[in-house]
Amino acid sequence: MMKYYSTNLKSPDVSFKEALLKGQAPDRGLYMPREIPRITSSEIRKFGKMDYHEIAFTIIRRFISGQIDDTDLAAICRDAYNYPIPLEHVCDRKYILRLDQGPTASFKDFAARMMGRMMNYFLRLENRKLLILTATSGDTGSAIANAFLGLDNIEVVILFPETEVTNMQRKQMTTLGQNVHVIALDGKFDDCQALVKDAFADPELDFLQLSSANSINIGRLIPQSVYYFYAYSRLRNESDDDKAVFCVPSGNFGDMMGGMLAVRMGLPISRFVIAVNENDEFPTYLKTGKYQKIEPSKNCISSAMNVGHPSNLSRLIALYGGEMDEKGMIIRQADRDAMQKDLWAVSVDNAQTRQTISEAWNQYKLLLEPHGAVGWNGLNQYLSGLDQTELAGLLCISLETAHPAKFPDEINNLLAFQPELPAGLLGIDDKDESFEYLKKDYPAFKNYLLTSFK
Ligand SMILES: *Cc1c(COP(=O)(O)O)cnc(C)c1O
Repeated sequence: MMKYYSTNLKSPDVSFKEALLKGQAPDRGLYMPREIPRITSSEIRKFGKMDYHEIAFTIIRRFISGQIDDTDLAAICRDAYNYPIPLEHVCDRKYILRLDQGPTASFKDFAARMMGRMMNYFLRLENRKLLILTATSGDTGSAIANAFLGLDNIEVVILFPETEVTNMQRKQMTTLGQNVHVIALDGKFDDCQALVKDAFADPELDFLQLSSANSINIGRLIPQSVYYFYAYSRLRNESDDDKAVFCVPSGNFGDMMGGMLAVRMGLPISRFVIAVNENDEFPTYLKTGKYQKIEPSKNCISSAMNVGHPSNLSRLIALYGGEMDEKGMIIRQADRDAMQKDLWAVSVDNAQTRQTISEAWNQYKLLLEPHGAVGWNGLNQYLSGLDQTELAGLLCISLETAHPAKFPDEINNLLAFQPELPAGLLGIDDKDESFEYLKKDYPAFKNYLLTSFK
């Protein structure tokens, strides 16, 4: 049986099911698999001819030790991944992996849809209920709301920073109703996240059966390892030592941790490039070994990445033999030499992001939004430091994490046109919104939970 440990090392190991339903460990650490299953190179070859949902089944199955029946898991994967996943060729062997075609047009659909369906599977078997608390910087909220909407055994509470999400992002959460409850907080994403974490650690709320759908849930992380295999298996050449550079625009580091799990499973990479916006705490840490969270986090146009202390960082540090507590204190240093061999990190500011959107369009007719542009810029900065032999024939894949139509003003200002809305976003302007306002104050939030869900 695959066991999951807490990165704070003070809670007992649990099964996949428990880790999924709990979200955060009782000691406030994050769950990580004790062992990481191996995907062999001949399996990766076969992935090249398999559908996405079949690759997802093959990989996710290894992490759950039969706790979900194979037939059910296969059906869940087929149902969750029913949308296109384009690999757009840019030039040479450079590609954009578009993870923006799901129902809420952000890459978070990949994780949320899978996690919601797996949770529902276990809850239904046991006739249990859960109250999901989620902090969002924009896109998680709508992906979670959409993935859980209408599930009988789950209520969802979403907190978002009042002034930091776009109209479209807000409407994607507040127009759903049913079991989806939305709160606007007069604070930042980090404040939302702090309230959620406090609630999880509050024994007086135990009876509410709280759980998390943030990227701290291991059930969100594992599905995010799949698209790296998918992209690589389709773009690799015949040579067995063909290695890829992936570039991941990052905020809370869930996407990147999915990638790092993939690397430990056997995905052949040359480097993982981590591109962040002006919240540059991680590039600084990777360079110097000193970690200083950014409080308050900086507001950048790639708003879903405005994170001053990425919660998944403790997982990355654990993967490299170190220990970091939930406040960002490094208790034991990670093997930074090993980390630097796998990872390269860069901060991209707003001006560079905007310039990249313009240049990518003018040069290649490549349409990017701010998050994907941070990634594409970061990839190119990384490549500009390589020499000709390192560059020759190098496979490069940069992730586009949201649909450009979610940022109509930014795109219109830069490119003088409005991207076409994907199907899931059409008509949203005409729907009624419903949400509450709260101060960034734990007692007020606790009172809201106690009175709304007793
Ligand atoms: C959440 C998000 C990110 C950052 O992903 P993390 O897993 O938090 O690093 C990047 N782009 C978009 C569009 C997002 O919604």
